[in-house]
Amino acid sequence: MSFAKLGLSQPIVNALDELNYQQPTPIQAKAIPVALSGNNIIAAAQTGTGKTASFVLPILQRLVASGAATQGVRPKRIKALILAPTRELVLQVQSNIKAYSKNLNINALAMYGGVDSKPQKQALIEGVHILVATPGRLLDMYTQRALHFDELELLVLDEADRMLDMGFIDDINRIVERLPERRQSMLFSATLNNAVRSLAKTNIKKATEISL
Ligand code: AMP
Repeated sequence: MSFAKLGLSQPIVNALDELNYQQPTPIQAKAIPVALSGNNIIAAAQTGTGKTASFVLPILQRLVASGAATQGVRPKRIKALILAPTRELVLQVQSNIKAYSKNLNINALAMYGGVDSKPQKQALIEGVHILVATPGRLLDMYTQRALHFDELELLVLDEADRMLDMGFIDDINRIVERLPERRQSMLFSATLNNAVRSLAKTNIKKATEISL
């Protein structure tokens, strides 16, 4: 199995080659085709399995297909939102996006609390395709009208179980309520316990379930 056979376009495949990713991991082989077909996903996957690329690569492919990643096209509004529990994870996901999109015109912003929000606001004004954020700071920015979701096409809840453990349930529900109904949604979690399933029930409609 190769990344090209999964349906990813050449600039993305070339970036993966350069990172020496020789073949998709099992979660990638299962999740990427489902995500590329436009279906919603609930996936049980631990860190270390390659789960990040399972949602980042389909997001990039979709931005390529829609023309949003074309040189010279500056996004007015965010197209994809990835929610993650901690600053460390937000930065790690952003760094993966940068590596996988090195041959594309994609801006990914990492947004988290505990730091001055001015640079984050400025980046939003300059144009962001993919926003990777912790729920608290994201809500803050939304309340300040620094952020608009009207062109949002994709939502990812990463490490959903950890976000729930950290008490983000109300923040997540408040954010998702404000997103366009017509969107693709994906949830990744180390475990699909009852709390995670209940979160998925409200926010990830008609999902295909994937586990290893
Ligand atoms: P993750 O589970 O997303 O945190 O990924 C764990 C590690 O595996 C990261 O360092 C990735 O860069 C790496 N990785 C992800 N997918 C692949 C792949 N298909 N081949 C080789 N390494 C990979």
